[in-house]
Amino acid sequence: MKTLAERKKEIEFLMGYAVPEAQAEAAAALLEKYGADVIGLNLLHSFYLRLPEGSEDSVSTVRLVARRQGVFLLLVLTGNALQYLYLVNREGAHILGTPAEGLVEREFLDFFGFADSAAVAALTGKPERLQEYEPYSADSDLCPSCHADEGEYHTLGCPVEICPWCNGQLTYCNCRFIKLGTDSMEREAQVDRLLELLEEAGRIVFRKKDSPAYPGTDD
Ligand SMILES: [Zn+2]
Ligand SMILES: [Zn+2]
Repeated sequence: MKTLAERKKEIEFLMGYAVPEAQAEAAAALLEKYGADVIGLNLLHSFYLRLPEGSEDSVSTVRLVARRQGVFLLLVLTGNALQYLYLVNREGAHILGTPAEGLVEREFLDFFGFADSAAVAALTGKPERLQEYEPYSADSDLCPSCHADEGEYHTLGCPVEICPWCNGQLTYCNCRFIKLGTDSMEREAQVDRLLELLEEAGRIVFRKKDSPAYPGTDD
């Protein structure tokens, strides 16, 4: 995984081709705001790597629509006055489309606890009422690495998650290999099986008090 500083440099490079002159200052300020935040950087990287309309534009504001277990549903407002919905976690960002196209997949609606896509549209229809997405800060109650909230599961692969078998760091101990009877984890089926085993063993949720004092994302 790239460090946050490397990711930020990549975004700066992409922005050189993507941002209209008149929007450059505001776009650069937003990059500074999210410059040490993995969620914000993943979002900006995705936007500038594949401009939604394929023509020059910039991210002017990011608003939080919903958040659960380190997965963020974010509304992007652009310098050209367009809007897009993104799903973002510490692994990356995925564009869902315009707010009108909305969040339609049942799996995602259920995950965030929305009754239907109209419930999402009611929120995105009044963006000024949504809070601005704030970057992670040390006094936040979220997991410093995957941004799960107190009592929520980490994003699988988060280095802060504690192993229920040995109480070590789940991404560093060998328990997952022992439990799966393998010496490498390459297939998706193995990840699914690991998740089942973790849940049987009693997967350990994020607790602020267990949180290490380091950002944990520069691995
Ligand atoms: Zn975490
Ligand atoms: Zn372990």
